[in-house]
Amino acid sequence: MLRFDILTLFPEMFDSPFNASLLKKARERELIDIRITDIRDFALNKHRTADDYPYGGGSGMVMKIEPIAGALESLDPPITEGGLVCLLTPQGEVFNQKTAREFAGESRIVLICGHYEGVDERVRDHLVHREISIGDFVLTGGELPAMVVVDAVSRLVSGVLGNEQSAEGDSFAVEQGLLEYPQYTRPAEFRGWTVPEVLLSGHHAEIEAWRRKEALKRTFLRRPDLLKKAHLTDEDRAFLELWLARPESK
Ligand code: SAM
Repeated sequence: MLRFDILTLFPEMFDSPFNASLLKKARERELIDIRITDIRDFALNKHRTADDYPYGGGSGMVMKIEPIAGALESLDPPITEGGLVCLLTPQGEVFNQKTAREFAGESRIVLICGHYEGVDERVRDHLVHREISIGDFVLTGGELPAMVVVDAVSRLVSGVLGNEQSAEGDSFAVEQGLLEYPQYTRPAEFRGWTVPEVLLSGHHAEIEAWRRKEALKRTFLRRPDLLKKAHLTDEDRAFLELWLARPESK
């Protein structure tokens, strides 16, 4: 079981995303456990103030360290017994499928959601192990990033996906490092838009070969950076060379 603790000023934001679909099932089957802690419960004054003006002036408010430290130290069992504490921040290392795989091997992950202008720098310096960004853009808070991390990590926890193979073939999966091939389902024709013939052939080897080639082409066109790191066979390279020589690849 992988346990997530999410520390937030807005617990209500998490009500629905974790109560639908695969994450709901994973929680019911006790493959993952998600606990939400309201940072405001650990504010020290009667107004439950969790943020304050920045020292040195400037716009916006900064989340105070005491309520965050209090919330972290309230977790049961204590995180000193193991667990990875992460701060969600646009300044962190960019989260990707490799990070998701790594996190899926943990037994406890704590996610601290910032808000307003961010959190007191001492949280970064003294209370967290990793700083995680979900991309080069700025959101209003760390709540959506925390949901993204929980979702991406949970689907890699053993047993969460009905069929383990569905994660193996995914884009960025370690086995191939390519984008996934195009997928189709019924009907075979809609408004004259047809499904590639080979997929209807029932010929397993040909389908596999077609999928591999499509994944190679798609990765070349959309994410050539991934192709440089991918595990390519001699056959893959030969195919790409031939295809690149053709005008349709341009
Ligand atoms: N002033 C901060 C800065 O420039 O780094 C941005 C603060 S942002 C408005 C408020 C909070 O949203 C952050 O503390 C962080 O928790 C979260 N956040 C915003 N964008 C994020 C991203 N791309 N990845 C992870 N967390 C993000």
